[in-house]
Amino acid sequence: MTIDNTVQQFDVSVVGGGMVGAAIALALSQAGLRVALVEQQAPAEFNAASAPELRVSSINLASEAWLRHLGAWQALEQMRLCPYQRLQAFEQPHSIVTFAAKDIKRSHLGHIVENNLLKLALWQQFAANVTQFCPALVTKLQQTASEAIITLNNGEVLSSSLVIAADGGNSQLRQLAGIGTNGWQYQQSCLVALVNTAYQQQDVTWQQFTSTGPKAFLPLPGKQASIVWYDAAPRIKQLAALNRSQLTQELLKAFPEQLGQVEVVASSWFPLARMDANQYYAGRVVLAGDAAHTINPLAGQGVNLGFADAKQLTALIVSAWQNKTDIGAAKLLLTYQRKRKPANLLMMTAMDGFYQAFGNTLAPIRKLRQLALSVVSRNRLLKTLVARYAVGSD
Ligand SMILES: Cc1cc2nc3c(=O)[nH]c(=O)nc-3n(C[C@H](O)[C@H](O)[C@H](O)COP(=O)(O)OP(=O)(O)OC[C@H]3O[C@@H](n4cnc5c(N)ncnc54)[C@H](O)[C@@H]3O)c2cc1C
Repeated sequence: MTIDNTVQQFDVSVVGGGMVGAAIALALSQAGLRVALVEQQAPAEFNAASAPELRVSSINLASEAWLRHLGAWQALEQMRLCPYQRLQAFEQPHSIVTFAAKDIKRSHLGHIVENNLLKLALWQQFAANVTQFCPALVTKLQQTASEAIITLNNGEVLSSSLVIAADGGNSQLRQLAGIGTNGWQYQQSCLVALVNTAYQQQDVTWQQFTSTGPKAFLPLPGKQASIVWYDAAPRIKQLAALNRSQLTQELLKAFPEQLGQVEVVASSWFPLARMDANQYYAGRVVLAGDAAHTINPLAGQGVNLGFADAKQLTALIVSAWQNKTDIGAAKLLLTYQRKRKPANLLMMTAMDGFYQAFGNTLAPIRKLRQLALSVVSRNRLLKTLVARYAVGSD
């Protein structure tokens, strides 16, 4: 293949500058690599007066520690985020299992952050060795023995030793690289609502499990919160068609009393899918984050798994680069796949177990899960183990 001299050379090209792709680009650039970042949409600027955005994520302590190491967490703290000290799970509002930060000697269990602000905080840290191509899309991928070459929709051509696909669950790069997937669409969808609350800022996130799907509360700064309502897809579509005051009434009827008085400010709905890429790399293209796996958001693990991918992958690349070996070598990418794929699959399967067990109305299963919740609630060691797992500790 002949490459003309308008081709721009980089060490790594990252396609998708969302939370995971931006973290990868930042980590690699901080180690000194020349990085190209291709993204279709730059993060919106922060406006303290604007309402929080609808897409929020629960970020665990392991992800927070890495983002702090990258310098992005400090920038996020200057904008907007909400820590929580307690995590509660229950079926009946009178029998609640509480996991508390103090039980594992931590100041908090995690934070609820706005996806766009975390993306912005990462982008704000980019130095001159991150070249941004935005807004841009990839139209073509070519691979040689030593390079991966991508062509953008504006005609620019980028060549690098490795292309990292972090362009989300519908990854176009994954398709261009010919990597297949398996998975399915769940029968449930979820409705996400931003609400004004009667209570002051809360330090607890809770989830009530019901036979039609979980109902979750995620605190936001001030007197606001994010509500996630999982239910059968037709029911969610029906709820999504309501106006704000009708939806408020439905929420107040369906959610437990812990919610208190709320008023819906904005809402949207999402289909739920599970997807696992058949392999995490093909030639010199490697997948990370939702491009490699999408998971039921029920336990708020998706982007935390993505950050774990990002940390592992960037550590391997930086080590190879410092040792002056090929950063796109199959051996390196296989090591990454061996480290991350089983861990991601384990979490997906655990979430499916939850989904099945808590969505089941059969009396013996109901009794069993009530028993499980009550055993966990009374056993200190079990509670500590669950809390440590939730914060992302090994
Ligand atoms: C309702 C809901 C609630 C969730 N709650 C949580 C939670 O509490 N905690 C948690 O850990 N996870 C949660 N998740 C999952 C989490 O949102 C995802 O795991 C996370 O967004 C994945 O990040 P990513 O950077 O891999 O992909 P994305 O966030 O999808 O980012 C992909 C980026 O690539 C860009 N892009 C896409 N296509 C192209 C292209 N062709 N060319 C260039 N750029 C492109 C996009 O603009 C975007 O910036 C939730 C998901 C849902 C649906």
